[in-house]
Amino acid sequence: MKLKALNGFKDILPDETGLWCQVESKARGLLERFHFSEIRLPVLEKTELFARSIGATTDIVEKEMYTFVDKQVTMRPEATASLMRAFIQHNLQAQKPIQRLFTIGPMFRHERPQRGRLRQFHQMDVEVLGSANPRIDAELMAMGALLFSELGIAVSLELNSLGCPVCRPSYRKRLLEFIHSRLDNLCSDCKRRSTTNPLRVLDCKKPPCREQVNDAPSILEHLCADCDEHFARVQKHLLELNIEFSLNKFMVRGLDYYVRTTFEFVTGELGAQSAVCAGGRYDGLIEALGGGKTPGIGFALGLERLVLLLQLGDERPAKENTIDLFLAGLGEAASDYCFKLMHELRSSGIRADMDLDIKSLKSQMKQADKAGAAHVLIIGEQELEEHKAILRDMATKEQQRVAMDAAVIGKAVERESRSMA
Ligand code: ATP
Ligand code: MG
Repeated sequence: MKLKALNGFKDILPDETGLWCQVESKARGLLERFHFSEIRLPVLEKTELFARSIGATTDIVEKEMYTFVDKQVTMRPEATASLMRAFIQHNLQAQKPIQRLFTIGPMFRHERPQRGRLRQFHQMDVEVLGSANPRIDAELMAMGALLFSELGIAVSLELNSLGCPVCRPSYRKRLLEFIHSRLDNLCSDCKRRSTTNPLRVLDCKKPPCREQVNDAPSILEHLCADCDEHFARVQKHLLELNIEFSLNKFMVRGLDYYVRTTFEFVTGELGAQSAVCAGGRYDGLIEALGGGKTPGIGFALGLERLVLLLQLGDERPAKENTIDLFLAGLGEAASDYCFKLMHELRSSGIRADMDLDIKSLKSQMKQADKAGAAHVLIIGEQELEEHKAILRDMATKEQQRVAMDAAVIGKAVERESRSMA
């Protein structure tokens, strides 16, 4: 039997990694402009961390975690909890009152794999700790919007407020009354949620349930004065920054720890996997995990979904990493010379490759073509004798004779590749 990767665990092959690197480097550039610093976190944490922070009645903790029961550790299903743990453990707040942090890496959730939904997937997770100012809420959303626009991806921003421990309980009561009046028409999951986590009934994706809750009371009409003001200011700042958004009173988000602002960037192109980026405020979380009173807000962006959207918009066939120069030696002595020269060229910054075995010129030209080489350097017996090689420009098919010297060749290849770019 052939060995295969686990269901929901995907190899990202060489013809895709280029796109991944591009996305990551654009995102990093953007985060730098917004003065964020990177933090790298372990993928394995104590199960207790996730149980305490994500919430026992969420899909993640109820059924999606990869847990080693005997060791009481879990593969992280998201990054916020680990980041909070690190923030508290290393007392990061003492170094800077407001921390702007991001991390990129794999997350693990045991859910039903489909397009844009994997069991190992990647997130870029961004968190700002230490500020309750609604400006930061708007700034984060504006940063997300800017990333999508710089990548040329059309998404829309949906916004809601979930209130806080002051106003949510009375809203929850109102909502429960409403849910009970419709209980017979709701799915079995929603019936269960009505006792464990009634807000999540609003989040059910099944059309009959959606229809039932369409006229449910909105949390936005039940916010306390402080939450109401915070939410009004978030919207005002978004308008100041020219960020388009719409209100979605059904967006309650999966995680238990959210308060006030929640938001999602959604697309219509990925079916049920519509959320590309999701986030919100979690002012009580750090305290709940044993840290000081610290407000926080963040978002997580799903990189698989982002890459899928980029691939949808790009008709060009995927391409592997290309090279500046392919060295073609004819015969043993020339091949030896090429091998040495290739290392010198690589040392000076040129992307170069050659066939390690002795091959015909025809076969080597084919390889150069396949590798997308911008140039081929041909060295045969005569070239060796005269110490002059033939440099072929693969685009224009022009050939010139150049001194067989790494500095000279390097310059010619570099200059021409630059003028082509
Ligand atoms: P969904 O409703 O699609 O299950 P979620 O609310 O569980 O999403 P979050 O926990 O908020 O997702 O994670 C943030 C982002 O990470 C999502 O918006 C999505 O882009 C991405 N994401 C979440 N789960 C997966 C997954 N299993 N595979 C790929 N991407 C995912
Ligand atoms: Mg989910």
